[in-house]
Amino acid sequence: MLDRAQSPAPVLIILGPPGAGKGTQARRLEQDFGLIQLSTGDLLRAAVAAQTPAGLRARSVMEAGGLVSDDIVTAILRDRMAQADCARGVILDGFPRTQVQAEALDALLAETGQRINAAISLNVDDAAMVTRIAGRYTCANCGEGWHDSFKQPQVDGVCDRCGGTTFKRRPDDTPDTVASRLAAYHDQTAPLIAYYRARGALIGIDAMGDIDTITQKLGAIVKTATR
Ligand code: AMP
Repeated sequence: MLDRAQSPAPVLIILGPPGAGKGTQARRLEQDFGLIQLSTGDLLRAAVAAQTPAGLRARSVMEAGGLVSDDIVTAILRDRMAQADCARGVILDGFPRTQVQAEALDALLAETGQRINAAISLNVDDAAMVTRIAGRYTCANCGEGWHDSFKQPQVDGVCDRCGGTTFKRRPDDTPDTVASRLAAYHDQTAPLIAYYRARGALIGIDAMGDIDTITQKLGAIVKTATR
């Protein structure tokens, strides 16, 4: 057996439509397992805010709820994965979203001698996603996720986690854009479930329950997959 110290850093993928809880769960796994959450959505939003050339090209596509080009997203992910902290292992949240991206990831991991430990699909009811997304917001300071109906801070307007009082909503969390994002998911990303199933890497879980229960299920999966 390979010595643990020499094992390649684990790579986990979380698949699921917008609103399924990928970001929330990936952040929790980051804390619990010391893995790095890599959200291409977050990386792209940072590029848009910094007005980098990639950000300038991505902005209108993101506002419309479409998918940013494979070239841009793959380049952003590749750069981020080359940073030293990713040697601890990564949880990919929102990547890959197309077959081309899945193949680019395979090529990248082949270069570093890593493999995909598990691709976890969060199975949810589409209709519920629009309600979930429409009410969600995050603490501008620590990034903790909150929801108008399902998860409110104990003191109105104050983040339980860090005491922050400024919150933000994503500009693409509008009903029209959410419909486009769900369509993009079904057309281009859902086929990856079969892609990973065919390689024996897929683990599907029911992700309609409460957040803590899903975190527990995921924790058990990650523990086994990274052993
Ligand atoms: P997310 O935060 O994962 O919901 O992503 C927000 C938006 O960023 C998406 O609606 C896409 O426009 C874009 N995006 C994020 N990740 C990708 C990806 N892997 N491929 C293409 N577009 C992406």
